[in-house]
Amino acid sequence: MNDCIFCKIIKGDIPSKKYYEDELMIVIADIDPKAKLHYLAIPKKHYKLLSEMSADDAVDLGKCMKKISEIAPTLGLENGYRLIINQGDDAIQTVPHLHIHILGGQKLVLRDFRTDV
Ligand code: AMP
Ligand code: ZN
Repeated sequence: MNDCIFCKIIKGDIPSKKYYEDELMIVIADIDPKAKLHYLAIPKKHYKLLSEMSADDAVDLGKCMKKISEIAPTLGLENGYRLIINQGDDAIQTVPHLHIHILGGQKLVLRDFRTDV
């Protein structure tokens, strides 16, 4: 998709701090980190939602998840990490290209969102 910022990053048209790349995904530093370590794993195929995936896309996403687990120690995530995939409006997904947030480098308390407006 032409105006997608993550497609542009994948193509190299927008610079990023890249930590890993293979035929299925890239892993980059989030430009606005929300934890001591915050990466984005971005599948190279453009789609927004898990509900839009084909069966092949689902297999590829599974491979991406496995690869994340394999490279985690090289990313400083030996003690664990949290994966987040924001989907749609309530999750406040801002980039409509599916991506996996990888958070770590510290203890990550799961906070209570119920009092948020
Ligand atoms: P989401 O809100 O789940 O769609 O997450 C989008 C993420 O992309 C946010 O955490 C942004 O900080 C991050 N982001 C946006 N533009 C860039 C960029 N050029 N390089 C790296 N991360 C970015
Ligand atoms: Zn895209």
